[in-house]
Amino acid sequence: MKEMHDFCAGLYPILRSITGDGLRRTLAEIGRHVPLTTTEISSGRACFDWTIPREWNLRDAYVANERGERVIDVARHNLHVVNYSVPVRASMTLDELKPRLHSLPDRPDWIPYRTSYYKDDWGFCLTHRQKESLPPGRYEVVIDSTLQPGGMTLGEVVLPGTSDETVLISTHTCHPSLANDNLSGMAVAVWLAKHLASLPQRRYTYRFVFVPGTIGAIAWLAHNEPQLVRIRHGLVLSGVGDAGQIHYKRSRQETAEIDQVMQYVLESSGEPHTIMPFIPYGYDERQYCSPGFDLPVGCLMRTPFGKYPQYHTSADNLELLSPEALGDSLAKCIAAVEILEGNRRYVNLNPKCEPLLGKRGLYSTTGGENETKQFQMALLWVLSYSDGKHALLDIAKRAEIPFRTIKAAADALEKVELLRPAQ
Ligand code: ZN
Repeated sequence: MKEMHDFCAGLYPILRSITGDGLRRTLAEIGRHVPLTTTEISSGRACFDWTIPREWNLRDAYVANERGERVIDVARHNLHVVNYSVPVRASMTLDELKPRLHSLPDRPDWIPYRTSYYKDDWGFCLTHRQKESLPPGRYEVVIDSTLQPGGMTLGEVVLPGTSDETVLISTHTCHPSLANDNLSGMAVAVWLAKHLASLPQRRYTYRFVFVPGTIGAIAWLAHNEPQLVRIRHGLVLSGVGDAGQIHYKRSRQETAEIDQVMQYVLESSGEPHTIMPFIPYGYDERQYCSPGFDLPVGCLMRTPFGKYPQYHTSADNLELLSPEALGDSLAKCIAAVEILEGNRRYVNLNPKCEPLLGKRGLYSTTGGENETKQFQMALLWVLSYSDGKHALLDIAKRAEIPFRTIKAAADALEKVELLRPAQ
């Protein structure tokens, strides 16, 4: 989808980090599309075992040769500076500088992405080809950064539903000039929020959480602990824009409703996909699924992190993002949400023998012969299994009838008072 790709292109040049003005600008851009609110969590605040770091901002960073020419310049690529570098002004020889220069010998044309959030350090990243070509001599090194008490900015979009039971959608927002990881997650989350905002009515309340990776999710959990009991389903979106096969990583609960729904969506798509078991590593699902919370939160990806060579390098750029893949990831999320919204348990109000459907007008459906027949079958399946125990998704799988048809049958039966939602 071109609009989503354009959105990523707009955010790509911003120098983001886990705190600072680049993060705020990014959230402000998201706020142009969806009703976003922000919360600042102060530096030094304890969040479980973690502490919010000082705020980092960068004005300039470069390495200049003896002629004053900038041979490495953050103005050319945001990945050139190690994210969270402390301020530096120094003159040094190439040999003194070299331990501070990071490159990828196996990928000599790509710039690596390096961070040092929790240890005072500094450095530059560059292509291996460039590193090898730097002539001996003295170099001027400048990192004009600030590390000061400030805040970590968390963004949130809340779309209220008829119930305060909540669906959590989370994506990280802290990577500078990396596209699949994780502008793609922001784009799919924003467009999913737009879709949900356009619905006339929502059963669930949706909370879209745009936070820095790891520390941001931890801070959000610490800040929202009393409300976490309302979370019924959740999804972390990450790396959802490359052309690779879609992957769903189960929640720690493994068979939560979101796990069943995602499996159903991917299997019924008929497209290649992989369902992965939970592991306590990966994206922010590992915070949401930590045993003290154990929230039913899975993770949707395309090629998993670390499994594509461009991961955490300058080659994770806008060309790696496919508008079709972004659109497909969004379509899978929309399909999942549609099932979550409709997946209820019902009770058959006329359980002794089959009710007479004809006298209630349930034989007159529009559509082709096969569709009509499938709808008739769906009515029987829903009546038979609406015992308060089986949800509509269970019935759809058992009947091998599309969820949408089963849901339409349940709606029709509820309308003629043959069915009521189970409590
Ligand atoms: Zn990453």
